Amino acid sequence: MPEGQIIVTGASRGIGAAIAVDLARRGYEVASLSRSGDAPAGYGIKCDVSDPASISSAFKAAAGKGPIIGLVNAAGTHTEKPTVDLAVEEFEQTIRLNTTGVLVACQMAHPHLAASGDGLIVNIGSFVDKLAVAQNVAYASSKAAVGAITRCLAAEWADDGIAVVNIAPGYIETDLNREFLAKEKIQQWLRRRTLVGRPGKPDEVARLVGALFAERIGFLTGETIYIDGGHGVNI
Ligand code: NDP
Repeated sequence: MPEGQIIVTGASRGIGAAIAVDLARRGYEVASLSRSGDAPAGYGIKCDVSDPASISSAFKAAAGKGPIIGLVNAAGTHTEKPTVDLAVEEFEQTIRLNTTGVLVACQMAHPHLAASGDGLIVNIGSFVDKLAVAQNVAYASSKAAVGAITRCLAAEWADDGIAVVNIAPGYIETDLNREFLAKEKIQQWLRRRTLVGRPGKPDEVARLVGALFAERIGFLTGETIYIDGGHGVNI
């Protein structure tokens, strides 16, 4: 296992928190970034990923504690609204957090990961990047762009020894969609719609991300890996 820290954004709750805990369990140093600065594992740094200056400060703070060998972009928000009612500002805010935040964190990570010679970036996208979902134009656009960032940076940074992978979850039980998933109608729908008959748990995404760091498979980069209980392939 290479020595150094892994930065996890959106690490105070949900999927990011589960990832931080899993990576710490595997012995990695974890810098947990979020607006609250709460750290379920490692140490916390307050950071708003919709603000490039805040991401820059967070990376400076983390770099002061030791080498950075990895980045997980898990911070994100969900926007759901009829498209005719969606204000341009709401669309842009979603892109700013879910997409621009990912890009800027990758830019900040680049010199550190290139110096390590064996860096890994894992972005948390969403399976909606390939689905037709009503009222999700902002969210789905933001996550499709994360897939594009993943592919482009994988191409650009392969020579620097940096791999970039996009993990695209289906419905996972977190604060983001707790109310939605609590509805009996939705639970019935997911029982039919997913092959495994249920939504996923944050820990299931976290163990996949943790395995990518622990195994560090050199031939894997630029890809989107779907973890959705078979939802996206179920006809
Ligand atoms: P949660 O709402 O449970 O957690 C979101 C996390 O992001 C929190 O730690 C929150 O911390 C942080 N965060 C939110 N806004 C910002 C910000 N501006 N700057 C820094 N951190 C921020 O969401 P999930 O865990 O469910 O989602 C995590 C990722 O997984 C997101 O990118 C989401 O799109 C994606 N995803 C989730 C799915 C699901 O079904 N849950 C499905 C597919 C993808 P704080 O409030 O302290 O800032």
